[in-house]
Amino acid sequence: MKRIIVAIDGLSSCGKSTLAKGLAKSLHFAYLDSGAMYRAVTLYFLENNINYNDPESVADALQHIEIHFERIDGQNRTFLNGRDVEHDIREMSVSNHVSPVSAISAVRRAMVAQQQAMGKRRGIVADGRDIGTVVFPDAELKIYLIADADVRTSRRHLELAAKGIDAEWDAIQRNLLERDRIDSGRADSPLRQAEDALVIDNTLLSEEQQLEKALALVKEL
Ligand code: C5P
Repeated sequence: MKRIIVAIDGLSSCGKSTLAKGLAKSLHFAYLDSGAMYRAVTLYFLENNINYNDPESVADALQHIEIHFERIDGQNRTFLNGRDVEHDIREMSVSNHVSPVSAISAVRRAMVAQQQAMGKRRGIVADGRDIGTVVFPDAELKIYLIADADVRTSRRHLELAAKGIDAEWDAIQRNLLERDRIDSGRADSPLRQAEDALVIDNTLLSEEQQLEKALALVKEL
């Protein structure tokens, strides 16, 4: 298999990471969870009481943030300054602040530079909001995932429960729709479908079916 880049974008909780992980495993590629990086920055800002509306505080804080990924027991784990934050970055407190933090250009510049460095060797599946449009505009395959909002909320609810994170269905839906609004409306790198992206609607698809569809697209390249 040629070492290509697969870019997956879409609204919150539409199954991007499930598809990206499945593809990375099938193709023996690396997986890049770009959302985890924005979540880790947000966690740092919250834990260190950084006023993210103040550009100087943000610029200074970014100097003190190191994010990397490790695979432990077959699982992707996110590390913030040497600490495994994979669980903490999924908490609702982070979800409630991550979109305003991600709209800050200085934050995006720092994360995109790191993501592009990770994609240098290609052979990577990355998911996020601006992967096909900004991070890897030359990706060989771009997928834009869509799914019904209630289905997305229910999936997220189940996913959080499985991680031991307790959150109300309504609160989850409000958070998803609010993140969609901010992520799609921001000035810097808003979420949008790249012109050369192929759409997969997974509302009625199982994980296996969506993976099969995506693998078929890879084979067609
Ligand atoms: O992918 P996930 O839902 O974990 O991403 C969390 C948040 O990170 C998104 O709602 C968005 O605000 C931000 N994000 C982004 N650009 C990306 C990936 C995520 O702005 N490429």
